[in-house]
Amino acid sequence: RPAVPRPAATRIFVVANQKGGVGKTTSTVNVAAALAQLGQRVLVIDLDPQGNASTALGIEHRRGTPSTYDALVDGVPLEEVVAVSEDLPNLFVVPATIDLAGAEIELVSVVARENRLKKAITGHPLVGSAEDIGEDRFDYVIVDCPPSLGLLTLNALVAGDEMLIPIQAEYYALEGLGQLLETVEMVKAHLNPGLDVSTILITMYDARTRLAAGVAEEVREHFGPQVLRTAIPRSVRVSEAPSYGQTVMTYDPGSPGALSYLEAAREIATKGRATTGASA
Ligand code: ADP
Ligand code: MG
Repeated sequence: RPAVPRPAATRIFVVANQKGGVGKTTSTVNVAAALAQLGQRVLVIDLDPQGNASTALGIEHRRGTPSTYDALVDGVPLEEVVAVSEDLPNLFVVPATIDLAGAEIELVSVVARENRLKKAITGHPLVGSAEDIGEDRFDYVIVDCPPSLGLLTLNALVAGDEMLIPIQAEYYALEGLGQLLETVEMVKAHLNPGLDVSTILITMYDARTRLAAGVAEEVREHFGPQVLRTAIPRSVRVSEAPSYGQTVMTYDPGSPGALSYLEAAREIATKGRATTGASA
């Protein structure tokens, strides 16, 4: 597979949607693995106390494992809590342990509580521009959010340059998106003016049903060019992979799910800020 060009500076993506089960974690780990296969250096940050992204990437996340919690709550430098994935040498992970469930409350009394993740990410010596850092830089940081709009997700929205919103191709697909986009507007107005909803990904698409086609069309009408051309098909291989501690990219690279995530990653890498350089 031909590699794609590396961006001029680290692109920080937030994968968010307060609805559970829409494919946030699945898209985080598979887009990350696909980008890594395309020659990018990728850091996944698991921001969900459930630790599903950590599980799917085969990363230890028992209580006590150095994790997102340490970086957010205790201010431990991010580079001290990064693990390397077993599958791909250029894919790195900050795991989440169940301790993170308490962070939502513990952070309330902390100074600049909504800036903790931003501080952790920008403080990592490999986050920044090619000019400043060189070959070792991260090309992508991808944050997997929990299914809520609490302080953890708020931290991600403050830290991110771009948002990736997965939308499940089913009947209530657009329900709740209004609330998510209102939160994004609030964050842009007060905390992170540069946040860009750059990427919408349609997930669990079942090409055999009129319903899925109708939902996809509605999403494309509503969002326009932000919607990736590639939709991710519903596929049992995608849902099986995590139980082997693998992404579908390594579990079954030739499967329709893996090929679609590869195509989606290629779209992400070749459009938007990849070619326009760093954000302010
Ligand atoms: P979220 O992180 O938004 O809660 P997940 O990524 O965990 O959602 O996905 C919810 C469930 O749907 C999981 O069991 C996952 O394995 C399954 N799933 C996600 N994408 C697909 C797909 N393309 N095909 C089949 N199952 C999928
Ligand atoms: Mg999840």
